[in-house]
Amino acid sequence: MICQKYCIPCVKTSAISWILQKDSRCGTGLLVRENRNVMYIDSHVHFRDFNQKHKETIKHGLEVAYDSGLDAVFDMPNTDPPLMSRDLVIDRLKIARDSGIPVFYGIYMGLTGDPEQVKRAVKVYREFPQVIGMKLYAGHSVGNLGVTTEESQHTVYQALAEEGYDGVLAVHCEKESHLDPSLWNPVQPITHCYARPEKAEVESVRDQLRMSRENGYNGKLHIAHISSPRAVDLVVDAKNQGLDISCGICPHHFIYDWSQMYDDDGVLWKMNPPLREPNSREKIFQYLKDGKIDWIETDHAPHSLEEKTQNPYMSGIPGIAWWPLFEEFLRQQNFSDKQIEKLTFSNIVERFGIGIRKSRRKITDRRRDYPFDPYRKISEELGWLSKSIRN
Ligand SMILES: [Zn+2]
Repeated sequence: MICQKYCIPCVKTSAISWILQKDSRCGTGLLVRENRNVMYIDSHVHFRDFNQKHKETIKHGLEVAYDSGLDAVFDMPNTDPPLMSRDLVIDRLKIARDSGIPVFYGIYMGLTGDPEQVKRAVKVYREFPQVIGMKLYAGHSVGNLGVTTEESQHTVYQALAEEGYDGVLAVHCEKESHLDPSLWNPVQPITHCYARPEKAEVESVRDQLRMSRENGYNGKLHIAHISSPRAVDLVVDAKNQGLDISCGICPHHFIYDWSQMYDDDGVLWKMNPPLREPNSREKIFQYLKDGKIDWIETDHAPHSLEEKTQNPYMSGIPGIAWWPLFEEFLRQQNFSDKQIEKLTFSNIVERFGIGIRKSRRKITDRRRDYPFDPYRKISEELGWLSKSIRN
């Protein structure tokens, strides 16, 4: 009646100051938080594209990122084909540029156990400011970029040291010898958590600390999607001893524990590293609050429902469309404005040494773009849209 475009009257929840304006024609909502500068960086997303356009594309990912209040995203290299060469970097940067979406698109180069490839990757890093770092899969996850033997990981650190690489090396830490894929049984999704236990992460972090020291690695080490409090202890100790190290945590690891795996849709919660036991979740959330974890990253990794619920039961859940919710969650948990700003923006800018312009804009709800809404429960608790995306 008053608003031409968003024709249902605003609903202001009592718990939080979100205004929800619902567009009755398309069913999408517009969420605007009052008096806030919206600015987030997601340093860990999977925009796939190439041969996996059905999961996510660079253009679509950037659109959702823009609508969700993100000013920058850093894309992971376990694409198909994997991002290991200059030519593919150029292809991806062109797709992002052609999209015309004003969100900084950064990428990590994938590393292999071949020292010549590592050295070429360093050259590409130096050539393109959008190549913001390197990624090492010190354990197999999604894709074929695993550098799983100790020998090949040594080679990577050695080659980076020889090249004088001083950028960020983000590492997926799950030590292969502590993974037991035979335990996985899709009928009981919790078995995924047993197949990839905390010990695998802890031991891999220990390996990275040791190998980076032994090889005189002079760059910045970043432990991606840290999920075990014992691994955080190792990172904090190393930092106190002067190692240039950081770690990031995914919202799913500090909001949920592995009891999700017992839900009817438990199989949808399969991700690497997996959700952890309740005690670990509680402890790591306290660590986040205590400032022991450097920032939040979503590991946005959508798959089709078929891929999630049938063989190969892909690991990964979407994340970028829920950034405003994560902010609200932290606020409800008494994180200060300053803490939230550091965890979602400034610690990342500082670590990667890049200038990202903050922008102020309205947020458009894009959760319906994905087949699975992992944060539905928490949205309902916080008074967000009560309607499930899946229904
Ligand atoms: Zn990832």
